[in-house]
Order: sequence, then C-alpha cells, then structure tokens
Amino acid sequence: MPDLWLYDQMSRLGALSYRLKIMLVAFLGIHVPLVVVVLYIAALNAEHWGEFVDTLVVTLLATLLGSGLTLFVLSKLLSPVLLTAQALEGFRCDRNLGKLPRHYTDEAGRLMACAAETIDHLETTLDRLEHVDEATGLPNRRQLLASTAQAIEQGSGVALAVVRFADHARVTNAYGNSAAERAMAILARRLGSFVAEGKMLARPGRAELAILGTTDTNADSQAALGFRIRDVVKSSSGEFALGGIVLDPFLQSGLAFHPADGASAENLLDAAAAAATQSGPAMPLVLHSAAATRAARSRFELEHDLRRALPDGQLDLNYQPIVDLDSHSVVGAEALLRWHHPERGMVSPAEFIPLAEATDLIRPIGLWMLSRACTQIREWARSELGDIRLAVNLSARQFLDKDLVPHVRGAIEAAGISPDRLEIELTETAAMADHAHTRRVFTALRDLGVGIALDDFGTGYASMSYLRKLPFNKLKIDREFVHHVDSSGESQAICDALIALSRGLGINVLAEGAEREEEVRHLLTRGCSTFQGYYFARPVPANDLGRAVGLAQLRMQHHRMEHADRGPADLGRQGKRA
Ligand code: C2E
Ligand code: MG
Ligand code: MG
Repeated sequence: MPDLWLYDQMSRLGALSYRLKIMLVAFLGIHVPLVVVVLYIAALNAEHWGEFVDTLVVTLLATLLGSGLTLFVLSKLLSPVLLTAQALEGFRCDRNLGKLPRHYTDEAGRLMACAAETIDHLETTLDRLEHVDEATGLPNRRQLLASTAQAIEQGSGVALAVVRFADHARVTNAYGNSAAERAMAILARRLGSFVAEGKMLARPGRAELAILGTTDTNADSQAALGFRIRDVVKSSSGEFALGGIVLDPFLQSGLAFHPADGASAENLLDAAAAAATQSGPAMPLVLHSAAATRAARSRFELEHDLRRALPDGQLDLNYQPIVDLDSHSVVGAEALLRWHHPERGMVSPAEFIPLAEATDLIRPIGLWMLSRACTQIREWARSELGDIRLAVNLSARQFLDKDLVPHVRGAIEAAGISPDRLEIELTETAAMADHAHTRRVFTALRDLGVGIALDDFGTGYASMSYLRKLPFNKLKIDREFVHHVDSSGESQAICDALIALSRGLGINVLAEGAEREEEVRHLLTRGCSTFQGYYFARPVPANDLGRAVGLAQLRMQHHRMEHADRGPADLGRQGKRA
C-alpha cells in the first residue's frame, strides 16, 4: 500500500518500536533548521566563524529544548494507538478485556472506541459460541457441566435428566441437518416449563436435551421428580409439523442423581444419557442403574468381539432333530448357531444375533451359516444318516437383504444338494413387517424349491387374510405355548387354534420346545404330530447328530409303546383331564 511506504522502509531498518520510529523522524525534522543555519553561516562567513558561536549555542540549546518538549508531547499523543494495540494483543492472548475510553471523537479516539466495541462484541460472541447452543438458544454441554459442578459443590441434591430425540439421526439423514435442528428447537420449547420451575434446560448433545434440578435425597422426592419429568416428556412427545412433514417424535429419557449415580458432573451426565438409551415406548423414563451401564458396556465389548468370531472360527452350527410321531421317524433337523467365545464360553444366539443385526455382521454370518448348512446336508447325505431336511433360521435383517434369494440359490448350487432338503425359518414377526416383500421373497424361495416355515408362531400379530395368501409350508408353534400345554388352559386354547389354522391352510404344524412327555401327549391328541424339543433331543454338534437321532428314535419307540398300551381314547381323556 502506498500509504505504508515510509513505514515499510523504516521497518526494514531494524526492530524499532512504532514510538521510536515517530520520535526518530520528529527528532531529525526538528534539527533540520539548526543544521541549515549552521551550514548557511559556515558558507557565508567562513573567516568570522567565531562571532556566531554564541548565536549557534543559543540556537542549539533552543532546538534541543524544543525537540525534547515536542518528543515528550508526541509520545503522549501516540498513546491511543499504543493502548489500542496493547488491548487487542491482551484480548488475543488472554481474553483480557482491557479498558479503552470510548468518548473521544477524533480519529485516535474513534480507534480506541471501535477497538473496545469490537473486543466486547467478540467476547459476547465467543461466550455464546462456547456456552450456548445456537439452534435452541439453550446452554450447551460445557455450560451444563459447569452449572452441574457448581450445584454439586454447593452440596444440594443434584438431579440430572437427559431427554433423547431418538429419531434425530434419521431425520438428519432424510430431511437434512437444519430440519433436525428445528425439531430440537421445538422440543426444547416444549420442555421449557422446567425453566419456569427454576430448573436449567440445556442441550448437551446433538440429539439430547437435559434438565438440571435439585431435589431432596430421600426416595419420595426423587420419585416425585421422576414422575414430573416423565409426565412433561410424555406430553412433549406429540406430533408437530416440520415444513411439509409431520413428525411423531420418540423421546427417550433417563434420570441420574448425585452422588449415587455419578460423583462428578461429567459422570452424572453420562449416567443419565446411558439410562435414556435404555428407555423405550413402554418405559419412557429410566432411572440410571449401574447394572444397566455394565450391561451396555458388556454389549459393546461383545459387539467388538463378534467381529473376530467368524474369521477366528468361533462360530459353529448345532443341529436339533425334528421328529414326526405319525411316521415315527426323524424327519429333519434345525441348524442353530453357536458362538464359542474365548473368554465368556458359549454365547446364546438370542444374545448375539441382535448384535450382529445392529452391526451388519449378520450378512457375512448369514452367508457363512447358509453355506455351512448346505455343505452339512451334502455330508450327511453321503453318510448313514442319509437325506436329512435341514431348517435354517433367517433374522429379520437378513430377510430384508435384496440378495437373499441369490444367496440361498448360490449356497444350494455350491453344495450340489436338492433344494427341497433346505427349509428357511422366519419368525412370524419378521414375516409380518413388510407384507409385499414377504410375499415376493416367499414366492421366489418356493419357486426355488426351498421349504418355508413360520417360526415362533403365536407371538406376533399375523393377519389371517394375509397368511392365506402367503406361500409357506410349516408353522412352528412357539415354545411359550407348548410349555405346560397339558396344564394351562390358555396355552391349550392357543395351540388348538394354531393347529386348526394350519389344518385349514393345509400346512404342517410343529410344536417347538417340547420338554415333557405330557406336553407331547396332549398335543398329539389335538392333532399335532411333529415335534422339536429337549424331550426328544437337544441341539448337538454335527458329529453327534447320529447319536441324537438314535436317542430321539428311542423316545419315539417308548412313546409308541405307551400309546399302544393306553390306546388313543385313553390318551384323549388324559389330554383333557390335564
Ligand atoms: P428358534 O429358531 O425358535 O430356535 C429354537 C430355540 O429353542 C433354540 O434355542 C433351541 O435350542 C431351543 N430349544 C429347542 N428345544 C427346546 C426345549 O425343549 N426347551 C427349551 N427351553 N429350549 C429349546 P437357541 O439355539 O438358543 O436359539 C435361539 C434363537 O436364536 C432361535 O430361536 C433363533 O431365533 C435364533 N437363531 C439360532 N440360530 C440362528 C441362526 O443360525 N441364524 C439366525 N438368524 N438366528 C438364529
Ligand atoms: Mg427356528
Ligand atoms: Mg422358534
């Protein structure tokens, strides 16, 4: 910049301060007249030089005195610039606000006033950015933690609740971040009544709002606060419009108390957030419990370990025989996944299948399981066990995989088995999720020649008209209704209905989890002759299936003899009596 030319040149002279630069120029400027006078006298009166010494001395002294005074005053007049520089530097380094006057109106005065206003503005903006959430206008996580720590220090009974907008990520993905932020702002407004009650409402996370309050440490006061929070959260969950869409928000909430659930502000917030993730539609507010946190941690670790399970060969299939008491033969088996965890021992599929689904590990595990099952069918076909029909379970997520049918076909072809040796089991609940999809996939599987069974039947809400149109060939009555069916009137009613339903639909019915002879006997009299359960055989590794089949046959023999002894009429009476 041209205006900075001289300044730039002088800056090159060395590390001179701004004050020194000005002083130097002023000093030199003031001494120019003196030098000119000396030179002039010297040029005109070189021989009479001595006559002017007095005059020169006086001029020199006057110049020195004048320049001293000028430099002093100049240095004072430079103060606005220097003070402004100091104030800006102080704010930059230490967030020091300094004190600059604001009432002067000339350029230097405006410089100080503008710098002071800019510093104030910056401080307010930074403070807001650091402590306030932009979308909701609420204190953010940092401010909430500071206020919680302060409340803890004051020794009052501190309660911290977290309210999670469970659909935040889905709304963000579907409608963008600004829609999700607007939703948070609406929810914050709905929870605003807490502020009127003297509690602090904050936004500690993207999908989370928090309520900080104090309460007595006795259980009654804590419960009262819990009920209050639950009620407000419930009444805040109503639908609202967001642009062109209507949202029905699902709010989860968790509550934690100091010191029982967390000693520090951070621990308390973590505890409330962890409790919130445990809540569901049936329980909108969950109190923090150490056990739940331990369970969450264990789940996390298990999820981590599950990634190694397949490559490390920790997964295996067990097989449970399926028997038919009409033909008195073992008509097939069900393949059941097993995870031999190196430290925890056997982990139940009921525990790790949901984890595999949540992490998408279900895809490689499902593929492995299908191919393993088909290979096993081929191996048995070549052994003395012969042609065994094997049922494999599909999880809800696997069933939604668009490549499922090609995967099944691929596994069958790779093993070189007949498709009718394979049966796919899908739970009733999974089959009901998307009617059109279920129909499409079931039809494709049927066309492939694979059998289809509806598993855990009776626990879901299958619609009869829909079932009628579904191409499937087996219905497996859930263990829950088979258990003590001989003595429970309710179970008898349900089993009777399911047996009649399958008869009406012209499909096979199987009772799962038969453990006692009385259960088998009862169901047999009601028209169900296919069973799977510990009474006949437990799930066993592939190599032990021969022995398990032998045991199941012994059981059937025993049963046949009993049956022959007592006769069907007697059995029928027994069923009714029980
Ligand atoms: P499911 O398909 O209903 O399997 C039957 C479950 O009942 C098995 O439990 C079996 O061991 C158990 N069971 C059989 N007879 C009896 C009995 O008489 N009494 C009792 N108390 N239980 C009996 P398991 O092996 O623990 O499997 C649990 C669930 O995990 C299965 O229920 C199935 O939904 C799922 N699962 C198992 N293997 C796989 C798999 O390979 N893939 C998928 N996606 N899910 C699987
Ligand atoms: Mg099953
Ligand atoms: Mg089942």
